[in-house]
Amino acid sequence: MTLTYDLHSHSTASDGLLSPADLTLRAAAKGVTHLALTDHDTLAGQYQAEQTAKAAGINLINGIELSADWQGRCIHIVGLGVATDNPQLTEGCRSVAEQRDERARRMAAKIAKLGFDNVYAEVSEQAGSAMITRSHFARFLLNKGRITSLQQAFDRYLGEGKPCYVSGQWPELAQAVAWIRAAGGVAVLAHPLRYNLTKTVSRKLLAEFVDEGGQALEVVTGQNNPNHVQTSADWARQFGLAASVGSDFHDPGTGYLELGKLLPLPSDLQPVWHLLH
Ligand code: AMP
Ligand code: MN
Ligand code: MN
Ligand code: MN
Repeated sequence: MTLTYDLHSHSTASDGLLSPADLTLRAAAKGVTHLALTDHDTLAGQYQAEQTAKAAGINLINGIELSADWQGRCIHIVGLGVATDNPQLTEGCRSVAEQRDERARRMAAKIAKLGFDNVYAEVSEQAGSAMITRSHFARFLLNKGRITSLQQAFDRYLGEGKPCYVSGQWPELAQAVAWIRAAGGVAVLAHPLRYNLTKTVSRKLLAEFVDEGGQALEVVTGQNNPNHVQTSADWARQFGLAASVGSDFHDPGTGYLELGKLLPLPSDLQPVWHLLH
């Protein structure tokens, strides 16, 4: 049987559109044998995903995608194989959630100025028990017909430096890696080519990530770009990092890569799953 890994995905516990159960079932249907649910800054979906995975006969790896600050930029660190009851990680998530709620209120106030009422109330009802992310505001603007694609929402309103953008107060890179490691997880630098960094600055980030205890790099990502795979694979070799693969699936039908439909991992790299137990 071929093993198909997809180690980066989102559910309704953060900004995905499928419940943890439906996400897990979809992954199984798409031939994924090893799935990591990696919601932004929360472990809330893990239990439901785990139960579903058992029933569906696929392997669920407990994961998370932490937002972290590195020199004033927001960087994403995926944690794989994390314990869901580690106080350092769960307390860290709790503090980020609090901060996210405050940020969401400030973003809602900015969006209200575009001519909408009750933005926070409506968006938080949509989000349910999940924390609010910029994706939720993007969908709000899409539903209101203000924009015609999620990308447009970020380009015009929600991207860094745009009128409705509010920066987050994220833990430092070192802190995020420490929380993941405290929970017994492997820290993976997510989608290294999504940060608009020069190659030189990217290497600085990688060096620091390794110094702080980072162990893997997401080499095959939802960007689905063979040149990116090559560049990232070179970095994994240079920095002695294991390699991860993940679609970053959020929802069916808005341009995200499908679960499990990933480019191949260069065969000389050490797969991150060799570090998971
Ligand atoms: P936040 O963590 O609240 O800042 O929200 C970031 C989330 O917004 C990311 O996890 C992506 O899912 C989504 N996002 C960021 N940029 C874009 C974009 N250009 N198009 C679509 N979604 C995006
Ligand atoms: Mn997201
Ligand atoms: Mn990310
Ligand atoms: Mn993600």
